[in-house]
Amino acid sequence: MDTELHYLISALKGYLVELRETGVDGLPYGYAQDIVARPDVVAEELEVLKPNVIAGDAFESETVESIRLALGDCHRCSLGDSRSNLVFGVGNEKSEIVFVGEAPGRDEDLKGEPFVGEAGQLLTKIILAMGFSREDVYICNVLKCRPPNNRNPQTEEIEACQPFLLRQLQAISPRIIIALGTFAAQTLLQTSAPISQLRGHIHDYHGIPLMPTFHPAFLLRNPAKKREVWDDMKEVLKMLGREPAVPEKGDEQR
Ligand code: URA
Repeated sequence: MDTELHYLISALKGYLVELRETGVDGLPYGYAQDIVARPDVVAEELEVLKPNVIAGDAFESETVESIRLALGDCHRCSLGDSRSNLVFGVGNEKSEIVFVGEAPGRDEDLKGEPFVGEAGQLLTKIILAMGFSREDVYICNVLKCRPPNNRNPQTEEIEACQPFLLRQLQAISPRIIIALGTFAAQTLLQTSAPISQLRGHIHDYHGIPLMPTFHPAFLLRNPAKKREVWDDMKEVLKMLGREPAVPEKGDEQR
């Protein structure tokens, strides 16, 4: 879909959901009449919005906190009924790196924080080897609620959650996004290409560079693939003009 149209629809949808959640169940008819009667005035209003929209900054004034408030006690899909906690995201909202995983698992659902289980511990090691702490970076998922029994996310769940992830990523505006695993990479890049083909190259996500890499849970089952993830992380660090803080430690990750 055309980028400008995508942002406008996403902005409008978010605004209408917020209105509904605050108890508004209708819009004044007068404004609709204005659109018909005074298209010049409405066009002027849209013109004010346009530069931001085109720059990919439709939500320029949003903060991560205001997006969390807008999300509320989300029941936009059925996962809202089965979750223990909504897992919004954690870390530095001004971070230059954002890690995006698939969806909360059991540990994350119980704690309300992404990547705190076994795969999360491996992710933390990777972050440390890169020279950051967990608090330095931002971590979130494509889905904010756990699919029952960790089943694959469904289309309507992704569609309900995506606008919030997009707004979150735009508010943080990192220098690079790291998509962890097949699901995150394919969803964010809107492709069905395999992760083995996507990884190792920097892609574009709404103007933000994005590096796909293997998911830490996959690394737990396939430790030999750690080398490729470390190569991807070194590529990310090069793009940021940084060196791994302790290169020897990074090599230990392999
Ligand atoms: N796997 C994910 O993709 N995300 C989490 O938060 C935990 C495990």
